[in-house]
Formats: sequence, C-alpha cells, structure tokens
Amino acid sequence: MGKTIGLPSTLTYYSYFPFWNKFFSALNYEVVASPASSKQIIDWGVKETVNDACIPIKLFHGHVIALRDKVDYLFIPRMVSVDGKATFCPKFLGLPDMVRASIDGLPEIIDQRIELKRNTHGLLATCYKIGAALKENYINIVNAYRKAYIAHFQYRSQLINGVLPGEILHDQTLNVRNSRTMGGINLAVLGYPYEVYDPYISVNLLQNLAAMKVNVWTAEMVPDAILAKYRYKLSKDLFWHYSNKVLWACYYYLKQPIDGIVHVSAFGCGPDSIVDKLMELETKAHNVPFITLTIDEHTGEAGVLTRLEAFVDMVSYRRERK
Ligand code: SF4
Repeated sequence: MGKTIGLPSTLTYYSYFPFWNKFFSALNYEVVASPASSKQIIDWGVKETVNDACIPIKLFHGHVIALRDKVDYLFIPRMVSVDGKATFCPKFLGLPDMVRASIDGLPEIIDQRIELKRNTHGLLATCYKIGAALKENYINIVNAYRKAYIAHFQYRSQLINGVLPGEILHDQTLNVRNSRTMGGINLAVLGYPYEVYDPYISVNLLQNLAAMKVNVWTAEMVPDAILAKYRYKLSKDLFWHYSNKVLWACYYYLKQPIDGIVHVSAFGCGPDSIVDKLMELETKAHNVPFITLTIDEHTGEAGVLTRLEAFVDMVSYRRERK
C-alpha cells in the first residue's frame, strides 16, 4: 500500500464512504477512517469549532483531529451538489475552509469541489481531477472510478433492502432488519444520515428502538426514484439536498402503513427549522403521531429514551384502540 488518506467517519460518510474507500484503495492508497464518534471526539470538536456550529459540524472537526497525525492526506471535498439542483447545507460548502481556519497542523487536504450534473460523467470528471492532483494516470483513475461506482451501487442496494449503514460499515451486531416483526410497531425514523446512523450523536436511538422491538424505516431504505416522486408535494424543492430527502421520505412513509414518525434534528440547524415544521404539519394532516428529538452535545441518553418509550407506548395504545 502507498500513502494514507483519512476520511472522517461522519457527515457524507454514511452516504459515500464505500465509493471513496474503493476509489482511493484502487489507486493504491491506504484509506483510514476515523474511529467511531465518542465523547473524546466531540470534546475535541467543541474545543476547535466556532460556538454557533451545529453538533454534526463540531463532531466533524473532532474526527479531523482524530485523523490529523495519522495520515498523509485528508479527504474533505467541498460538497456543493450531487444532482445539479439542490445544494448541500452552506456548512458543507465551507467545510474545508472552516477546518483549515480552526485546526492547526493538518496534513494536505484534498478539497475538490463536487458539483455534479445529472449524469455520471460529472462524477468521472471530478474523480479525474482528484486523481490528477494525486498524480495518477487517466487509465488508473477510470478503473478506480468504475470499481467505486459498483461499490456505491451495491451499498445503495443493501440500504434499500433494509440493511443499516452501521451493519455494513462498522459490522455492528444490531440488525434492525432481522428484528422486524409481523404486527410490530412501525416507525419511520427520519433525519440526516449523519444524525440517525451515528450511535453517539443519536444517543443509541436505533439500538434502543430495536430493543423495544420497533420496526425501523429510514429515508435511505427508499429508492431515490421513488423519493423523487414526492418532490411535487411542494410547489418547489427546498434548497438543501439532505433536507429534501428527509421531507420526501416523510411524504412517502405517510402513504405507507406506519404508526408514527420520529424526526431526529440537530439543535441550531437552520434547514431543520423548516423541515421540522413541514413534517409536523403534514403528519398532523394525516393524523399520524410525530415526535422531534433534538440533539446537541449535552443530550443524555436517559432523557431521549424516556421520551421515546412514552412515544412508543402512546403509539401502541393508539393502535390497540383502532
Ligand atoms: S444541515 Fe443542519 S445539521 Fe446538517 S450541517 Fe447543516 S446546519 Fe448542521
């Protein structure tokens, strides 16, 4: 193996890690993912990040610090758009600059702008720029891109089949898919993937729901083509990529036989102030129970668990009375 490239295990990690892992590995780089989120990592992030940042951004800074002295390069792309329409939240757009301004002693950062049109050539061209910056030749880059594309496709297929990212990326023993029970409570758990799937930031939400024998459904289990049909519920899309996905998934699940919707939201998240209100109005119109769990670095598992248990109890009671 050649040089090392660090990929922080948060933000777009849950969407695109298999792609970038395969791409850099195929170019003979050793990919180093930061360890799972922890108190130590969030403490590092809180210390280095501007005060008014949301917890996912603070956590990202902590993951960068966890990798800082271990790798030759850090991969922090400037995520602008993956469909040529909606952009990522402004904090994603400025992420490489925020990290550089806040943290000293960083290795070289690969901060290629990712702004794709609606075809795959945009992604190939982006990969070419990244590979060329690493002085790779065209043939190797195209081959690496092909392998990465297949890895991403396989990953998406697994998610659509109900496997959770943690089961694929971290070998977690939790298996919400296998614990699904006929006649059990069905909850859609919606939020940005870096909140829903990170056990630390979500204070073990999915694990606790699995322990309560709740059948969990998430936005990533819905094929993109089906989600996109629900964009027409609003007269125009929201500006932000992940916010659209959460909202469309809410509209989708409200057409399915689910018992309730849990929205996982980060304290201080601007886009979520709109998403949460739209979800609340829509669930109310459909008479479907809805709860918002707002998380920040001070959130304790016991408090969230109490609210969750009360919500599940209420949903069960409601179902028995139907
Ligand atoms: S969408 Fe919200 S939670 Fe995510 S990075 Fe932006 S402000 Fe933070």
